[in-house]
Amino acid sequence: MAEIMYVVIPCYNEEEMLPITAEALMKKLDGLKKDGRIDPRSKVMFVDDGSKDRTWQIIEKLHSLNPTFTGVKLSRNKGHQNALLAGLMTAKNYADIIVSMDADLQDDINAIDGFLDKRAEGCDIVYGVRSSRETDTAFKRNTARAYYKLLEMLGVEITYDHADYRLMSKRAVTALESFKEVNLFLRGMVPMLGFKSDTVAYKRNERVAGESKYPLKKMLAFAAEGVTSLSVKPIRFITCLGIFIFLMSIIMLIYFLITHAVSDTVRGWASTIVSVWAIGGLQMLAIGIIGEYIGKIYLETKARPKYIIETDLEEN
Ligand code: UDP
Ligand code: MG
Repeated sequence: MAEIMYVVIPCYNEEEMLPITAEALMKKLDGLKKDGRIDPRSKVMFVDDGSKDRTWQIIEKLHSLNPTFTGVKLSRNKGHQNALLAGLMTAKNYADIIVSMDADLQDDINAIDGFLDKRAEGCDIVYGVRSSRETDTAFKRNTARAYYKLLEMLGVEITYDHADYRLMSKRAVTALESFKEVNLFLRGMVPMLGFKSDTVAYKRNERVAGESKYPLKKMLAFAAEGVTSLSVKPIRFITCLGIFIFLMSIIMLIYFLITHAVSDTVRGWASTIVSVWAIGGLQMLAIGIIGEYIGKIYLETKARPKYIIETDLEEN
């Protein structure tokens, strides 16, 4: 039995892009329906993230002309991640599987075939992974790589070169609903769900029309969000630094005592320096310890699910 697939697309000021994207996706979905790979009731769901241009009017028009297109309008701009979550949560009421992608066709829509193959093999989550980053600038490529490394070091489970182009089953999206956090970094949260998952490689294209809705400033804010919403290790770093500086003060003290014993030293200097380092180190250590507790409070307030049940044999 073919499943109902919804393609969820967050859109912010995408009036130039939407007609092109709609056309391409309509062809793609028609093809998949004809081949019997997805249910005829499958749709494309656009999420208007409080656009200031004609984006919503275009979505309404598309919907009236062709029921394959549907839309959700947010009351105001809430950012890509929130718009995407809104789309996922709405789509899961109608669909068996949900593919999320951007409006700009940078993600190759033909990778959906690969997604469906993996789904047929029993995957609940399939990540689209960029096989090459030629179309990105060297700056973006290198900073992105370094960033993934940093996240990995901080203990965050993340799929390399995966943006938010992925397939999720209804039960995976339902599980995501039990994550109550407000600070969203979806690509870091989805791996926490577990379930059988796999990756499909695709070539990333240039944006077809319009300009990036992610200027450097938003990008940096998003990167910081990823670190602070998924890891409390930076706090531990302060604790370690505090211990290190305090130990340094003790080593200095011993060193100064020895030099004082064997030769002439300036009076008062050693005691001043050693106390500056000792107090500095102890203060940092104290902040780190307080931070540890705040980190715990932070994670508790997220109220993440303690477990997710994949199958319950009692249920069916
Ligand atoms: N987007 C959104 N809300 C925002 C900013 C962006 O819904 O506040 C959407 C945008 O319409 C696009 C996707 O997020 O579909 C990714 O944005 P973009 O392609 O501009 O980012 P880039 O590929 O340049 O990182
Ligand atoms: Mg893009």
